[in-house]
Amino acid sequence: MSPSLLVDNIGELVTNGAGEGPLGIRRNAAVLVEEGRVVWVGPSAYAPAADHHVDAGGAAVLPGFVDSHAHLVFAGDRAAEFAARMAGQPYTGGGIRTTVGATRAATDDELRATVRRLRGEALRQGTTTMEIKSGYGLTVADEARSLRIAAETSTETTFLGAHVVPAEYADRPDDYVGLVCGPMLAAAVPYAKWIDVFCEQGAFDVDHARAILACGQAAGLGVRLHANQLGPGPGVQLGVELGAASVDHCTHLSDADVDALASTRMDSTSGSGTTTVATLLPGAEFSTRSPYPDARRLLDAGVTVALATDCNPGSSYTSSMPFCVALAVREMRMTPAEAVWAATAGGARALRRDDIGVLTPGARADLVVLDAPSHLHLAYRPGVPLIRQVIRNGVPQ
Ligand SMILES: [Zn+2]
Repeated sequence: MSPSLLVDNIGELVTNGAGEGPLGIRRNAAVLVEEGRVVWVGPSAYAPAADHHVDAGGAAVLPGFVDSHAHLVFAGDRAAEFAARMAGQPYTGGGIRTTVGATRAATDDELRATVRRLRGEALRQGTTTMEIKSGYGLTVADEARSLRIAAETSTETTFLGAHVVPAEYADRPDDYVGLVCGPMLAAAVPYAKWIDVFCEQGAFDVDHARAILACGQAAGLGVRLHANQLGPGPGVQLGVELGAASVDHCTHLSDADVDALASTRMDSTSGSGTTTVATLLPGAEFSTRSPYPDARRLLDAGVTVALATDCNPGSSYTSSMPFCVALAVREMRMTPAEAVWAATAGGARALRRDDIGVLTPGARADLVVLDAPSHLHLAYRPGVPLIRQVIRNGVPQ
């Protein structure tokens, strides 16, 4: 049995369970951890003894952030493309092929080093769970190795062979869809939990997306997709139709899209089994200087909303969940509580997990101690390194 750990003297504990307000806040609280799990939450004054002790010093403690959308397996960067965009060029998604070329040319160790660097960067900013997609290999061998390397770091791995049609298939996209659904999927399945498609003009149309996602589902993968980022389209409703865990971006939505998402929400008491979460990725709008998604409209309609970084070298090269929380509050009119919930419990729902994103007995012991007295400071003090300590799986990092 591993030693127990007590985190006490917590001024404000965000549990996302029972407690005050939407975040289930408890004051002057303590959390006891055994075997990587939360086993007790209660008043600090009544905390049981433990082998090890972390004194939060009156600071706020949150569940670790759950970043449910990231593209970490790539080589090279696209800083010049970013600079050109900031000088006025529009974002089209075409730069993905630049990264595909660099990724194919990289060694396994180079890709592995990038994944570890970015995962470490995110961990230091409080991210204790991070989904990782493939999607810059786009050959059978390169997608398989991307997922194999991703799986060394995360159990939440996503096959995104349908990111874009690679240049060598530009004039025969049907053949590429056949490759994705056939040998590429077969090579990906041992390392992947999810399948994803970039359903957008210039990437994959709705018929191709439906075919690819159905193949993935038949192979046992869960469905998520990139939809309605650059313009309106059928992606969101396709996701709802297929029971996707999440549709990501949701920047351009019709009333029917919002209604479809809202219709998937189950009673909060009965879990998240068939909910399709709307995962908003404000780092992408920031980095492409685009209008932000209307989070208020989604929340007011009763849609379950998550926040994630979309960390990737083209359209959102940030690994910072606190930055996304600040953007969501300032630019998308989410309250600080809504944004913190979306970045923790919301991300967990988007991955269909109930053991993370909460700090209640039985949950995985993923905790973040802030250098601040309240979760409000994440948006109130943007750009400031407020993560004092991260505990992951019960282990101080
Ligand atoms: Zn993405």
